[in-house]
Amino acid sequence: MSDNEKTFFASWHPESADTCNDDTHCLVCRPGGDVLVRSDTTVGFPELMEPVSSLPEWQRLCIGTLDGRSVMLISAPLDAGAPQGYLWANIRPLLNGLDAGRLEALCRASMLASWDYDHRYCGRCGTLTLQDSKESARVCPSCRHRSYPRVSPAMIVRITNGSKILLAHNQRFPDGVYSCVAGYVEPGETLEQTVLREIKEEVGLEAAPPCYLSSQAWPFPHSLMLGFETTATGEPIPDGEEITEARWFFPDNLPHIPRHGTIARWLIDDWLEDIGYLK
Ligand SMILES: [Zn+2]
Repeated sequence: MSDNEKTFFASWHPESADTCNDDTHCLVCRPGGDVLVRSDTTVGFPELMEPVSSLPEWQRLCIGTLDGRSVMLISAPLDAGAPQGYLWANIRPLLNGLDAGRLEALCRASMLASWDYDHRYCGRCGTLTLQDSKESARVCPSCRHRSYPRVSPAMIVRITNGSKILLAHNQRFPDGVYSCVAGYVEPGETLEQTVLREIKEEVGLEAAPPCYLSSQAWPFPHSLMLGFETTATGEPIPDGEEITEARWFFPDNLPHIPRHGTIARWLIDDWLEDIGYLK
C-alpha cells in the first residue's frame, strides 16, 4: 500500500478523556463496527459535529492525534440507540475514500470500541475491569489479569504464473467477483505456513515460498491483513465450500475484482504494473 505522509499518531489517554473541546475529533462507535453518523451525511469522516454533552454518558477515551488535534473515541454500548438526527452506520463503506490518517483513526476507534466493550468483565474471575491509565489495556482490580486490544492476523496472497494470476470466487462475494486467496492465521503457525496451507486448502495447489509485500488494518472486527506474493502451477481445484470457483486469468480478461482501497485490489494492481500492463 502507498506510504502516505503520516498524519495520525496513536496514543491512549483515559485520564484526559474529559477534556474535549472544539478542536477535538470525536468518533462515536458501537461494538461490531457501527459508527454514529448524521442522518443527512452518511459519507466521509464521521466525526461528531455537536457538543459531546449532547450525547448520553458513554465511555470516552483519547486514542491519538490527527492533524495535530486530539481524537476521542466515545464508545457506546451494543444496544445504544442513535440520538435524534443521527443513525448507526456500518464502518465498511465509510472507509472508502478516506485519506491514510483518517482511515487509521477510524479503524483504531472501531477496533478499540469493540474490544473495550467485550472486555468489561474479567475473563478469569468475572469482576468489572478498568481501563489502564498508562497503556492500551483493561485490568482486573481483583485478580490483576490484563486484557490487551486484540488484533487477529490474516493473510492474503497474490498467486501468479508468468502472465497469469489466480483469482478465486468466495461464496460470500457478490456474483462474478473474484479476489486473492485469504485466510486467518492459526495459533502456532508462521505467516508463511498460513499462506501455503490456505492455498492448499482453498484451491488445491502447492505454491512456492511466499514473500511479504504489505499490510492493511482490517477492522471487521479486529484483523490485520498481511499481503504476500507467490507463484504456483497447475489447475486450481476449489474446495467447494468457501471457494466455489478458482481460475487463472490473463490481464486483458480479468473478472470483477475488489474495489480500490482494499489490499486485495492493491495486490492485483501492483502485479499489473509489474508486468507492464497498468501504467
Ligand atoms: Zn479477574
